[in-house]
Amino acid sequence: CGIVGYVGPRQCVDLVVSGLKKLEYRGYDSAGVAVVGASGLEVARSKGKLANLVGVLKERPLHGTTGIGHTRWATHGRPSDENAHPHRYGGVAVVHNGIIENHLALRSSLQGRGHQFASETDTEIFAHLIAEALEDGKRNLVQAVRTALSQIQGTYAVAVISDRFPNEIVAAKNASPLVVGFGQGESFLASDVPAILEHTRDVVYLEEGELAHLTAQGISLEDRDGVPLDRPPRRIEWSA
Ligand code: GLU
Repeated sequence: CGIVGYVGPRQCVDLVVSGLKKLEYRGYDSAGVAVVGASGLEVARSKGKLANLVGVLKERPLHGTTGIGHTRWATHGRPSDENAHPHRYGGVAVVHNGIIENHLALRSSLQGRGHQFASETDTEIFAHLIAEALEDGKRNLVQAVRTALSQIQGTYAVAVISDRFPNEIVAAKNASPLVVGFGQGESFLASDVPAILEHTRDVVYLEEGELAHLTAQGISLEDRDGVPLDRPPRRIEWSA
């Protein structure tokens, strides 16, 4: 239901969680965060309110300067810790808003190729497809996300991180909203502007089929055919 992402020099867990807090008005049943840092890819998730996730993080703090967070409004699979996003497989973590229509067919063919699933969600297949696309080492993260997206039918705003590409986030949009925010030496991502407004006012709303590649140095955008876009950020003048 809500997505927040950060890549840059800062330890980002608190920033991501406080961004999620600003999206609470949308309603949700669980929450989670994934980061890449010195100890690789780490995930924390919890059913219920963000306060529960904060409790989990207090018990087991995560460290990383690239991170994604999610508040979930369950559509496929009951609200539970296991079904909370981010979903993780093979060094890849994914958050997703929307519905993947052909997830059952994709799940059974992945299972046929030896993949084991840890949740009941439509979203988890996406982490598997990206991990599979990265396996032979021939694709970068953008190419792997594109390979996965080409197999998916449905609606999505997605954000992806990987321990093989620790300083990057790849995000894509089809029907569900997604906005990227430009900072000084850092980049932001959210399903809605209030989540990042404290940090940047220079944003681009992704349009249908578009993909964003975020690093600390900047954000590049591509259309659905992979053609680079040159869309200047717009400045948000209002306050949340
Ligand atoms: N369909 C996904 C799920 O049920 C995402 C739901 C959402 O948009 O929060 O996990």
